[in-house]
Parts: sequence; structure tokens; C-alpha cells
Amino acid sequence: MRSKILITAFCLIGISVQSQSIFKRDLGLMGSKFDITVVANSKEEANTYIDEAVEEIQRIENLISSWKFTSQTSKINRNAGLKPVKVDCELFQLIQRSINISKITDGAFDISFAAIYKIWNFNGEDIEIPDQDKISASVEAIGYEHIVLNEVNSTVFLSKKDMKIGFGAIGKGYAADKAKQLLIDNGVVSGIINASGDMNTWGVQPNGKPWKVAITNPMDKSKSYGLFDLENRAVVTSGNYEKFTLIDGERYSHIIDPRTGMPTKGILSVTVFAPKAELADALATSVFVMGTDIGLHIINQIPEVETIIVKSDGSLATSTHLNISSK
Ligand code: ADP
Ligand code: MG
Repeated sequence: MRSKILITAFCLIGISVQSQSIFKRDLGLMGSKFDITVVANSKEEANTYIDEAVEEIQRIENLISSWKFTSQTSKINRNAGLKPVKVDCELFQLIQRSINISKITDGAFDISFAAIYKIWNFNGEDIEIPDQDKISASVEAIGYEHIVLNEVNSTVFLSKKDMKIGFGAIGKGYAADKAKQLLIDNGVVSGIINASGDMNTWGVQPNGKPWKVAITNPMDKSKSYGLFDLENRAVVTSGNYEKFTLIDGERYSHIIDPRTGMPTKGILSVTVFAPKAELADALATSVFVMGTDIGLHIINQIPEVETIIVKSDGSLATSTHLNISSK
């Protein structure tokens, strides 16, 4: 379960402002808490729209989830080291984009991280570091460069036997983008998809003002960094406040450095603003692995992407062009 309900949408639920009103529904989707907000003329209209978005998110989950035996992703994983698997164009392209993010982040982001997950648990208990041999063997089975794509046949082949892919760091962002696009295509003028903290907005509130989101301080959840306008953009936070492991009392996040097989430490949370939730989601995870200095260096080179990093000592680091109006 994703824990970062740290970004909260502030809106007046169901209170009519002009002719249109804001309607919000809380949902359990992709093993996480979601909520969807739409601006509509009536509750009935809003319900129809939200149902459509839910159906779309469930469709995506059934396609990409590595937890579902029947998904195409599971089929790819079962055939690791054996044979290529034919997949839908949509999944093929998601994997292509994931590999591109691996390249930009020098392997910090890697959907084939999943081979290492069986040796760590992230339920907050104090644990011993697993044997270095076990870690090294799992790291051997990680590596985006061993994901073999054949565009002509639309096949994916994991060339190493124990390889496994998973979209834990990008899938919810992707689903949020797709649900948003579907609602826009269906005529919804304005709304918010909150995919367990991956916030994605379009349009404005019925009073003409932009949607506002609050980024909570991971050191003290009762506090936030204030409200930010979010206009047709996404903001995603990855944090280590609930899903983590303790080694000698020190807190490590559930985000793994694919190159060493070790969980990451040193950062409490990473918030990324981007035009798309998918990119923001993947980059928030990546900055955790890259650390503050390299993370900022990379983010500063990507147009329209900004970040706020909260380090373990509570200090903040932000990208060079961070320009979000705080209200
Ligand atoms: P959240 O748990 O809040 O969704 P993230 O978006 O940062 O946080 O995703 C963390 C998840 O991503 C992990 O639970 C795991 O499934 C996956 N993951 C962990 N390390 C990596 C990595 N280096 N690259 C890609 N995915 C990762
Ligand atoms: Mg992520």
C-alpha cells in the first residue's frame, strides 16, 4: 500500500460555486488509495465520469501489474530467460519509456529492480543486512540493458533467467495520466486524479481559480510547505516515512539502488513537478537513488521539471528553476 497521502487536494467537495460543482470520490485502486475529483453539472454526471476513469485504471492494472498472474507483465516475468512474449503496444511503449528513464538516470531507475525485492522486506522492522552473496546474485539479475525489445513483433524478452520487471515506481503515474486523458476526451473540463499522492490536475475550479495542492512536511505530517497552484500539471512525492526498513536503527527506504541492491538512505522525501505524472513518478523514485547532488543535476537539465528534496536532517534542496506560486 502506498502511504504517501501527503499531498492533499484542497477543494470544497460538492459545494456549488457557479453552475458547476466539484465532486470527489475516494477509491481503492492498484492496491492503493486513489481519489478522483471532477467538475460536473450534477452528481449523476460526475458519477458516470468517475466510473469511466475507474474502469480505465482497472484496465491498466490488469495489463501491467506484476502482482496479477494474468497480466502481460507476469507473462513476461514467467518467461524470463526462456522466450520473448508478445505484448500490447501500450505495454511495449511503457517499457520503452521506462528504459529511456533508466538511460537518463544512469540506471538509478530500473523496472527490472524487482529481482532484489525477495531478499528485503519493508515493513518497518529492524533487520540484518542479507548476505552479500545473496545481494550480489540478485543484482546480477537486474539490468534494463537485458530487457530485449522487438518493435516489429511487439515482443519483450528478459534475457536473464531470474529477471523480473515491475512498475511500482511508474505505474500509478501512468494510470493517472491515462485516466486524466480519458476524462478530458470525454468532455470533463476540470479535475484532479490523486493516485495515492501522484496528483494530476487539469482545468480550473468552478470559481476560476487554479487547483491547489499542499505538500506535507515529512518530518511533521501536521505541517505543509503551503499550498501550491497546480495548473494542468502533475506533482508526485516519494517518501520513506512509512515503507522502510531499519538496519542498526537507521532508516532505509523501500527504493533500491539497482546497481548495488541496497535500499537507499539520506533522503526523507522527493517531490517532483512535471507535465506528466508518469515522468514525475519515475523521477521522484530516481532522485531517491541518485541522491541530492546528482538528482538535482539531472532534474535541472530536464525542461519543465522541478523538484523539492527533503534530506534526512530535515533540510531542503530545490531545483534551480523551481517557480511554483505558494499561496
Ligand atoms: P510509492 O511506494 O510511494 O509508490 P515510488 O513511486 O517511489 O513510491 O515507488 C517505489 C516502488 O518502486 C517500490 O515499492 C518498488 O516497487 C519500485 N522500485 C524500488 N526501487 C526502484 C528502482 N530503483 N527503480 C524502479 N522501481 C523501483
Ligand atoms: Mg515513483
